[in-house]
Amino acid sequence: MAIQLFVPTFDVEGCLEEIRECLEKGWTGLGFKTVQFENSWKEYTGLKNAHFLNSATSGLNIAFDIFKEKYNWSDDDEIITTPLTFVSSNHAILLANLRAIFADVDDTLCLSPKDVENKITDKTKAILYVGMGGNPGNYHQIVELCHKYNLKLILDAAHMAGTRIDGETPGREADVVVYSFQAVKNLPTADSGMICFKEDEFDEIVRKKTWLGINKDTYARTNSSGNYKWKYDVEYVGQKYHGNSIMAAIGLVQLKQLDKDNSYRRQIAEWYSRGFSSVSDKVRLVEITKNSEPSRHLFQIIVDNRDGLMKALNESEIYAGVHYTDNTQYRMYEYAKGTCPNAEYISDHVLSLPMHLQLSYSDVQYIISQVIEFVSYND
Ligand SMILES: *Cc1c(COP(=O)(O)O)cnc(C)c1O
Repeated sequence: MAIQLFVPTFDVEGCLEEIRECLEKGWTGLGFKTVQFENSWKEYTGLKNAHFLNSATSGLNIAFDIFKEKYNWSDDDEIITTPLTFVSSNHAILLANLRAIFADVDDTLCLSPKDVENKITDKTKAILYVGMGGNPGNYHQIVELCHKYNLKLILDAAHMAGTRIDGETPGREADVVVYSFQAVKNLPTADSGMICFKEDEFDEIVRKKTWLGINKDTYARTNSSGNYKWKYDVEYVGQKYHGNSIMAAIGLVQLKQLDKDNSYRRQIAEWYSRGFSSVSDKVRLVEITKNSEPSRHLFQIIVDNRDGLMKALNESEIYAGVHYTDNTQYRMYEYAKGTCPNAEYISDHVLSLPMHLQLSYSDVQYIISQVIEFVSYND
């Protein structure tokens, strides 16, 4: 039987029950379950605000849009970001007409605080930080840099649903945290996300901006007769980015499993780590933040002959992945090529091994044995 990289697991009956409620009520859109999920998410994370979206990409786009407008950033202002991420992180910077300045990653595969500090200029306004695979990396040092240089912090937490440091959800320190509940993330729905602003004011704005700038409340307040409830004002040129009740229904059910799911992911990661301890010179592991419980959305290894290993695993019907290609190798970002040597190296040598809840102990042992066999004879 083939072993896939990601296999999302759903509580099918639980999801159907929640979705049935939406269908019977005749309410599948914004409101109802989206509000319930936002409340559950705030309770789960301890974050003050949460607005449910159709994706994390939307969240990143709207976050830069709001910050640029509210903080009066100009087109040549700079955002320091990582080259080792899914392109939606960096596209969000360019879509807002800001400049993406790449800093290198360290052994955590997250941004290196040292290189970030080197890249700060008079034009730097914010840092976009990605918790790779759910690993917080040196997040707290990045938070300190933001304080020291008065920068905003955007946390792309697409892999971080359920990640904790010292028992707490990281994110209160950030100006905004954006989560993804895309189909193969560690809290899968089908497509959705959550945006959590530190400032209440921005939470109010994002609710309008993700629904085309429509402000129903203002009008309702100024027209108390009730006759004109269908009328609304439009305060912004907005987007259609908000989430719907069907996705939220799935999210509500999946959230109940999240801690249990992540702890099994950490179990799998421990099996892998133990399995590779005898070949630590050939299979390098990612440095994980001390005192953290990472979501373990990914289990990544770094090897000499990554492409060879990938091919050998495929021949054994084990399907691995790559997270990610150094973004400065893409045409859109090649202006920064050569600025992040470590990310460039990782991009050619990193491999994500299968990581999902349907893997058994023996599946993991089989994968380990195939990797070890390859690296022992094919370096
Ligand atoms: C998946 C992902 C996104 C985008 O999430 P969507 O919900 O699919 O829009 C953003 N950043 C990172 C690091 C991701 O892995």
